[in-house]
Amino acid sequence: MHQPQGGGAALNVIMLGPPGAGKGTQAERFARARQVPKISTGDILREAVQSGTPLGLEAKATMDAGNLLGDDLMIGIVRERLNRDDARRGFVLDGFPRTVAQASVLDEMVNGRGALVVIDIVVPEDVLVRRLAIRRICSKCGANAFTEGLGACGKCGGALIARADDGEEIVRERLKVYQRQTKPLVDYYSARPTFRSIDGNQTPEAVSALLDAAVGAATGSAPR
Ligand SMILES: [Zn+2]
Repeated sequence: MHQPQGGGAALNVIMLGPPGAGKGTQAERFARARQVPKISTGDILREAVQSGTPLGLEAKATMDAGNLLGDDLMIGIVRERLNRDDARRGFVLDGFPRTVAQASVLDEMVNGRGALVVIDIVVPEDVLVRRLAIRRICSKCGANAFTEGLGACGKCGGALIARADDGEEIVRERLKVYQRQTKPLVDYYSARPTFRSIDGNQTPEAVSALLDAAVGAATGSAPR
């Protein structure tokens, strides 16, 4: 049964996919179209670091030491964000969960708030490597841009810079690490009727259409 937006169940979506799969772009478009907040843990952390909050300082110290942010810290920032008013009608999460422990706490957080739709964007490794080779990142707002040249960010006008860690060897290694870390997460979700894989090796417009169809199918078949 199709639940209309507005009065019905909230639209809770999480996006999985390797770096370069277009996850952030798709999450943003989708969130804008459905009028739910796009919640990116990268954005929250960047803001927290820039504004020097206790959370930001803790995160920065951890990352500066070369360590991954722990489950507790990530869960804390997502919990706080999901409890804000604008997330009541739903959300699109980008960058969370990263671990099964995070996924299991997310299930508890979403319990009673409607179905959780899980979208996995799949792109072949060689395509990702090619995409990441021309990826630039905005030095000011952190937005991604895919261009051969440098120039200015389309969002804020900040300077685009090449990412130091986007060399081919490093990219391939990063993708391997991603697959290894994400496999348990995909296993955790894949048997659910609200899990959908979509082919991300398409134009952004075509991927958007697939995403819309996948969310429609997933929410239509979701148990109440
Ligand atoms: Zn920018």
